[in-house]
Amino acid sequence: MPHALIGMEVADLEQVLGPAEPGYRARQVYRGLYKQGVRDLTTLTSLPRELRTALRGHDLGLPEVVSYFDSRDTTRRYLLKLQDGKTIETVLMPEEGRDTICISTQVGCPVDCKFCLTALLGIERNLTAGEIVGQVLVVMARHGLRPDDSRLNVVMMGMGEPLLNLPNVLKASRILLDPQGIGLSARRVTVSTSGIIPRIAEFGGAAMRPKLAISLNASTEEQRRQLMPITRKYHLRDLIEACRVYPLRTWEKLTFEYVLLKGVNDSCTDARRVVKLLANLRCKVNLIALNPGPGIAFERPDDARVAAFQAIVRRSLPCFVRKPRGLDIYAACGQLKRTTEAHPLVAPHAALLNLN
Ligand code: SAH
Ligand code: SF4
Repeated sequence: MPHALIGMEVADLEQVLGPAEPGYRARQVYRGLYKQGVRDLTTLTSLPRELRTALRGHDLGLPEVVSYFDSRDTTRRYLLKLQDGKTIETVLMPEEGRDTICISTQVGCPVDCKFCLTALLGIERNLTAGEIVGQVLVVMARHGLRPDDSRLNVVMMGMGEPLLNLPNVLKASRILLDPQGIGLSARRVTVSTSGIIPRIAEFGGAAMRPKLAISLNASTEEQRRQLMPITRKYHLRDLIEACRVYPLRTWEKLTFEYVLLKGVNDSCTDARRVVKLLANLRCKVNLIALNPGPGIAFERPDDARVAAFQAIVRRSLPCFVRKPRGLDIYAACGQLKRTTEAHPLVAPHAALLNLN
């Protein structure tokens, strides 16, 4: 079985090339794959002809675009097929001044958050490092995006819980951040977690790692247990403590994400409790008004409620409201579930599109 080359680091490529090849050959192939974006290694003329011929038998293992859906706000949602036929979603959000690629880390998700459509899929399997990096490479190539123009951001906020696939997420991160690899700045790559406490410390210990975002989503232990049952195993109190000891770099802040659910976790009291919970942490807060979906038993609070919540948090912490992107094509946060049609949203959800 030929190996998929995308996802390999220099040491893996040395194994593939064998001991007869000098060490710099593996580095040449590595640069070719990630830095130069070569898709046919037989065209990498810096390699000797025999080596190019030998590499012909190896597949790159890039995910294949099955279909895509364009939102009227310019967000594009890709449905990508992996080598075993399973499908995942990747979203590109072009904006004034920056482009963000939102990638998946698992097929489905085993964490049972009550407001998230991906949760309804359950978990099928972890993605390999190559499948994680491959999503970025496919979207970059299709849209002519470059890592070095300071526009490109990558967020691991698609399907799956990244910290339950930590070795592959870290390996993919190294390739994304390595100047000899894809070469993105660590400031432009973010991993988001529902709060897998032991893995947070492990992630923080990695030499080459992206920024970290924590999905808070509740202001008390009990409320979080209801919304994110994983809190029964990893308590909110302990999650905050893990954040307190997290080794932030000098330039870095933690991001806390908070999905606002009408009448559930969106009161002024909740906002004040969030401020108290996060006191003394170097952080910012991103508020996301619920993106609705079929089978989700919550409602989105109105704009005034969101603004009132933000006003309270903002007195103490930087606090932003995330605009929903790609709502009309099921591409927004918590909406990824491999929807193969861009269902028109029915009222009242259609009204949300005016928010963009
Ligand atoms: N599993 C990781 C990353 C993917 S989810 C995590 O939970 O952090 C990315 C973000 O989308 C999380 O902050 C999550 O709280 C949020 N989210 C999930 N469902 C949502 C929904 N229906 N509306 C708005 N945001 C949602
Ligand atoms: Fe998984 Fe994140 Fe969705 Fe929770 S919010 S079910 S952790 S993808």
